[in-house]
Amino acid sequence: MFPSTSKTPVHTGRVRRAAGLLVLLLCSASTLFAGVMMQGFYWNVPGPWYPTMQNQATNLSNIVGGYGINRIWFPVPQKSASGGYSMGYDPYDYYDLGAYSQNGGPGTHFGTQAQLKSCIATYKKLGISCMADIVLNHRTGGASEANTYTGGSTYTDFSGVQSGMCKWHWYDFHPNQYETSDEGTFGGYPDITYNSGDAYNDMKAWLNWLKNTNNAGFDSWRFDYVKGYHSWVVHDMIAASSPSYSVGEYWDANTTTLDTWTSASSAGAFDFALYYTLGNICNATDGSGYMPDVFDVTKCYAAKDAAHAVTFVANHDTDAIITDKMMAYAFILTYQGYPCVFWKDYFDNNLATGGGNGSGWGNGINKLIWMREKFANGGPNIHILKSDDSQYIIYEAYGTSASQPGYIVIINDDASQWKGTTITTSNGYLKNKTLKAYAWSSTISGQNTAPNNQACDGSGNVQVWAAPRGYAVYTVNGF
Ligand code: CA
Repeated sequence: MFPSTSKTPVHTGRVRRAAGLLVLLLCSASTLFAGVMMQGFYWNVPGPWYPTMQNQATNLSNIVGGYGINRIWFPVPQKSASGGYSMGYDPYDYYDLGAYSQNGGPGTHFGTQAQLKSCIATYKKLGISCMADIVLNHRTGGASEANTYTGGSTYTDFSGVQSGMCKWHWYDFHPNQYETSDEGTFGGYPDITYNSGDAYNDMKAWLNWLKNTNNAGFDSWRFDYVKGYHSWVVHDMIAASSPSYSVGEYWDANTTTLDTWTSASSAGAFDFALYYTLGNICNATDGSGYMPDVFDVTKCYAAKDAAHAVTFVANHDTDAIITDKMMAYAFILTYQGYPCVFWKDYFDNNLATGGGNGSGWGNGINKLIWMREKFANGGPNIHILKSDDSQYIIYEAYGTSASQPGYIVIINDDASQWKGTTITTSNGYLKNKTLKAYAWSSTISGQNTAPNNQACDGSGNVQVWAAPRGYAVYTVNGF
């Protein structure tokens, strides 16, 4: 029980880290991640939630014309200290996915293990990856025990978990003789150490257990609160469990810091920089935001490192873009990076179809997903056409064929005026064609109408226009 010399030796983390950097050097070629992700829950969803998610799987696999999402982010899977009242961020028994009668269960807030397995199987059968929300920083709900290191007692005795797995004690947490602390703690919960003790190997084993369809069937990871522990832990967990994709919640708007973390961890990162930049633009309904900020590599991580950026407009923790949110969705769904659509926006806030004329949401998220998937193969290759006007921006996604001709995007945050100009595209699939704005919106009364079609000449000259507080996405007419 006591961490003797036969335990994991001290400072093996340094060894792990050096090995990780070598792997990164060998695998430095990055690839853009194609597709659209959805966060499949929001705070305090009604339970049991897994059946609700499962009921929407077919719809989400075919949003428009056979195109849909390619990944869904599930809530935290394991039984937590506050049981059925918990959103999962207070982990207790990792191997209880809702099968054991403890903490008010069986069932977590989101359902039973059987419901989870059924939900995952349905999505995977439709070709949609299933991403688990993984909390590695802390654990809570243990019994009190004598703590040899601190000399007092701590709630770090997890020997009572019904699954019988991961029966940790005080030496699996900070402080201990090998490591007194790491980068952060959360909520006063016991803070897990990965430099000694059991967690390092136990969590590797758990992730692999979660991948097995007999238990759950997840294939990718969203790591919660990664600011709270060493980046090499994420790196090593990924190396040990081979997910199809990983992203970390590194809650920071500094794109250089985000770069440092993704390089060390090998995971992607949520683009908090862009989230705040879009908030500044969308929430300034007088049009005083600076639209070209979205191309600034210090204000948009997707602009700096598209291969590692997961762009988003809202999530279960923060939903602070309160006006003209569709301008933000228009940007993330047509720009580089891996966009994540928030379930609540899609199903509850009426942004899927935008509600048609009059609602101010134009024709909504569905048309934007269709344009990204159909005309840019889910991963747009971006070329900026106009970034010198505070009120509007224009950019294009290059085409690859006549049936996949790319698109041109204009986003206008002006409070009252339509904005537009003549740009020159080098995209040959648009030349000598009539262009149509298939996706568009405006929240200004009377302006929420589709822009007119435009002729693109043989040299690539074409006018594009967007309504105030709105956007337009053009491609060849006739699809
Ligand atoms: Ca920590």
